Amino acid sequence: MFYIHCPYCGEHREEEEFHPKGQAHIARPADPAACSDEEWGDYLFFRDNPRGIHHELWVHAVGCRKFFNITRHTVTYEILETYRMGEQPTITAESLARAEKSAGVQVANGGQQTVGASDSAVKDSKGAKV
Ligand SMILES: [Zn+2]
Repeated sequence: MFYIHCPYCGEHREEEEFHPKGQAHIARPADPAACSDEEWGDYLFFRDNPRGIHHELWVHAVGCRKFFNITRHTVTYEILETYRMGEQPTITAESLARAEKSAGVQVANGGQQTVGASDSAVKDSKGAKV
């Protein structure tokens, strides 16, 4: 059991109250009729699957029933931040890579090195789609 911070309730609640709903920050094309089949297919079906920082849409299903975003590390499962709909994440793959570069290799809480984070920051810059 672990706890997730709901930015609307303003407190940590049990994980069982929440459901993941997929990748966050996927904008619907403004003019779908103007999209090519590839662009529309990409919008509908293709999602990022990074090794490292991922921004996800979650819902507090058994609480306030509101949707919000989570920044999660897909290797350590660590939730780095939660933020409301319409807000932008303060932690991105790029910002983490910059911090690691300036601080050398960063060591996570469990003493495990987060080597994958810098790898994914380069390959998965699409993960922080706005
Ligand atoms: Zn809530």
